Amino acid sequence: MLPAGMDTLDPKRMVAELKELRSFTADENGAQRVAFTPLWVEVRNWLREKLSGLPVEMHTDAAGNFWATLKGTCEKSLLIGGHMDSVPNGGWLDGCLNVLAGAEILRRISAQYNGKPPVTVRLVDWADEEGARFGKSLFGSSACSGNLDMDEARGLQDKDGVTLPDALKAVGLDFERAKDCGKELKNAAAYLELHIEQGPVLLDLDLPLGSVLGTYGVERHAITFHGQAAHAGSTPMNRRKDAFLAAAKMSGEIYRIADRKGGVCTIGSCTTKPGIVTSVVAECRITLDQRHLDAAALACMLEAAKEAGERFAKEGNVTVSWERLWHIEPILFHPQLLDFCDEAIAETGAPKRRLPSGPLHDAAEVARAGVPTIMMFVQSLHGISHNKIEDTKEEHLQQCVTAFDKLAEKALHWIAEK
Ligand SMILES: [Zn+2]
Repeated sequence: MLPAGMDTLDPKRMVAELKELRSFTADENGAQRVAFTPLWVEVRNWLREKLSGLPVEMHTDAAGNFWATLKGTCEKSLLIGGHMDSVPNGGWLDGCLNVLAGAEILRRISAQYNGKPPVTVRLVDWADEEGARFGKSLFGSSACSGNLDMDEARGLQDKDGVTLPDALKAVGLDFERAKDCGKELKNAAAYLELHIEQGPVLLDLDLPLGSVLGTYGVERHAITFHGQAAHAGSTPMNRRKDAFLAAAKMSGEIYRIADRKGGVCTIGSCTTKPGIVTSVVAECRITLDQRHLDAAALACMLEAAKEAGERFAKEGNVTVSWERLWHIEPILFHPQLLDFCDEAIAETGAPKRRLPSGPLHDAAEVARAGVPTIMMFVQSLHGISHNKIEDTKEEHLQQCVTAFDKLAEKALHWIAEK
């Protein structure tokens, strides 16, 4: 028998649990649920406690991901995921809203189907989504999808010089075995993730909820212009090879390129050599981050930026070189699940809206592993995340878990009938 009050979805209970979590994981600077720290372990124990009244099997996999499994009449599984970890001084909702909404849905499904739903339902709390400590996000989900670069991850260190393998050891995990957790996806038939938007799109549209089309592809490059150092007083303007001037022209141009192609782009860093007040810049290195949901459009944005770089270099009598720092292809979510997500949102009385995700999420890794995947976004007040001011209206928190539950039910039947 389930304890009283556990038989139907209770959005208010989820909000109360989020507040309870905040009460012991946040200080005056925000949430401190950083992965692989003692507080994170405490959060995990708290989550186990919350789920202990349910007929679920709970375990932690080889990469530190936590799974709670409600066995169904068939092995095919509906996965609901999120992450309890946060950045230092983070918000109270990023990641844990998803997990606690999933816990609430597990309770509802368990009650409705007397502990035996038609398909297996699994809640997953991914380990170290944020990558706050080691500078590399999506650790647990990329280990699970098989995309984790072991050689790169093995060498990662935090600011105190502790390596990722040592940090894992401290919480009882063997880094070298991390990818063994891939077997957790064996019977996965769909993956659902709810998340706060972390941007202002839904806020500006005055909408509570949105269906996520997919995550942006990213092209990240360092662009270096090579000119010649020369005296700031004695060098006539027409004789200069000014590496900074060419780089500076790029900043306006990349905005025009993004406008034309409908993506986003950022020059996030600029360094000059010799970097002194009395010399023309000999070398200027900028970083460019370009993102788009459409792979062809992203490729066009990159090509346009390269052409512009050549043009400005030629104009300024300097040369330019490019170095690719990182890239990932756009990841599109599943069309049927996208339709279900729209329907679920509409059934709560909210208008339907589709939008892309700028940030990457664990859902992108699960989709890359070939599991049909969808995300639902709920509005962020202020459009801000990774900050203690991160917030969502309480009515929207309640509405999002209601909509997400309807999505889960649709996905469950879709899997059962497949
Ligand atoms: Zn998150």
